[in-house]
Amino acid sequence: MHGLMMDFPLTVPAMVRRAATLFPERRVVSHRPDRTLDRRTYADVIDRAQRLAVALRDLGVTRGDRVATLSWTHHRHLEAYLAVPSMGAVLHTLNLRLHPDDLSYIIKDAGDRAILVDESLLPLLNQVRAQVEIPHVIVLASGSGAASTGMDYETLLSAANPDRAIDVALDENDAAAMCYTSGTTGRPKGVVYSHRALTLHSLALGMRDSLGLGRDDIVLPIVPMFHVNAWGLPYSCAFFGCDQVLPGPHLDATSVAELLAGERVTFTAGVPTVWLALLQELDANPGRYDLSALRALVVGGSAAPLSMIRGLEERHGIHVLHAWGMTEMTPVGTVCNLPRELRDAAPEDRFRYRAKQGTPVPLVEIRARGDRGLVPWDGETLGELEVRGPWVARSYYHGESADSRFCEDGWFKTGDIVRIAADGCVELADRSKDLVKSGGEWISSVALENALMGHASVAEAAVIAVPHPKWDERPLAAVVLKPGQQATADELRALLAQHFAKWWLPDSIVFVDAIPKTSAGKFLKSALRDRFRSAYEEG
Ligand code: ADP
Repeated sequence: MHGLMMDFPLTVPAMVRRAATLFPERRVVSHRPDRTLDRRTYADVIDRAQRLAVALRDLGVTRGDRVATLSWTHHRHLEAYLAVPSMGAVLHTLNLRLHPDDLSYIIKDAGDRAILVDESLLPLLNQVRAQVEIPHVIVLASGSGAASTGMDYETLLSAANPDRAIDVALDENDAAAMCYTSGTTGRPKGVVYSHRALTLHSLALGMRDSLGLGRDDIVLPIVPMFHVNAWGLPYSCAFFGCDQVLPGPHLDATSVAELLAGERVTFTAGVPTVWLALLQELDANPGRYDLSALRALVVGGSAAPLSMIRGLEERHGIHVLHAWGMTEMTPVGTVCNLPRELRDAAPEDRFRYRAKQGTPVPLVEIRARGDRGLVPWDGETLGELEVRGPWVARSYYHGESADSRFCEDGWFKTGDIVRIAADGCVELADRSKDLVKSGGEWISSVALENALMGHASVAEAAVIAVPHPKWDERPLAAVVLKPGQQATADELRALLAQHFAKWWLPDSIVFVDAIPKTSAGKFLKSALRDRFRSAYEEG
């Protein structure tokens, strides 16, 4: 017997309709390259999105076609987020920090029919176009001057009649968007999000035990729209009617702090490197920024140091929410909210819990596998985290490669080495490729980094595995000191010795000016490994 409920597809247009009917007056604020602010309403953004859909259709873009974006986070990019999936095409966000060769590969692999590109990124696009042909180039600019390179976005929009927008009968399993993995392990692979995945993921971000987004929120995504759909925030915000404050290209700590304060932002999200810089800015300028409206700052993408969570909270009254996810998971998988049992616990214990990656959000299921099968949820035993759920990829675009990330029973292997506690709280020890294997035992680079970043003089620290003639691998720490601060390697090693067994301590602690970052702002450990590969050659 079948249930007798309506067959109501879960699609991006359903989320857009909600924004259009219930939240037309909510705001979208964008920080322009010249540092002025563009202010408009959802009604206006949605009208423009409808015009974009009409214009793209007139150019011959049809259902299933991929439409790329090479763009910072601003209202025009949001318009593409709403327009492209709504017309049945597939929004393909390109990471503008990638090398032109990688971008060309990705554009070719995805078969993009059209691209929307920021005027400021045309030099990058021109390098790419030397290697791959893209039929339609539309330049996102507020002025003229695009004509020699492509079509001018604003001209296209003014010529389009939004009344000609048509309702496409979408299946919720149709593709809505795609992103490529960073390619840190082999060639970038395409992840294709369905309408259903985006919609359910958006819903999940509203739950109180996840990010708890709601219509009173004013949301500033620091995580860019070109990285895993800005963690799904553009869609969630439209769905729930949150104001969106979009930072454009200005992601430095001062700009972020000014925007947070100036727009009375209630909710923001980004990777740890952004928040480490914000913490330094706030520490250096007590009282300069009024961040009292901020109810949550989400950190994810790589491990959030406990000292950072604690510093933001204790010194600046900012509540930090640690979340974990992946491109293959749309991306949110777990969120760390303090359980009621720990509400009255000592601060040490509360912060230790909150530095973990958290419990799976509803509909995400987890398990971890060690050498001898699935590991118990005892908070001790390490295993590789496997996941499944309605917004987890079941395959990559163009099928599977030899190094299968999928289990025989369909679960996805994350490549993250974790322990799971009895309450389902996940603690990530490392990415499998970053673990240090010394004398047959594992050392968690994340745990060492966390402790090093707890030192008052340390701005950033990355620990890598370096080949060692006797122990196979040994840890090496690269440390960036805060401006004007001092610390010696011996002092840092003594700090670590308080928390870790002697054999865990990095043999070498080197001071560097900067730690190289990935396109998503995470520590680029492969570059450090290349640089320090022979550090322990003499044993
Ligand atoms: P990439 O880092 O390769 O660009 P993703 O952006 O998809 O790709 O990153 C996913 C990975 O980032 C996860 O597998 C995990 O290793 C790491 N990660 C994400 N969130 C966290 C977190 N809160 N703590 C530690 N690591 C995290």
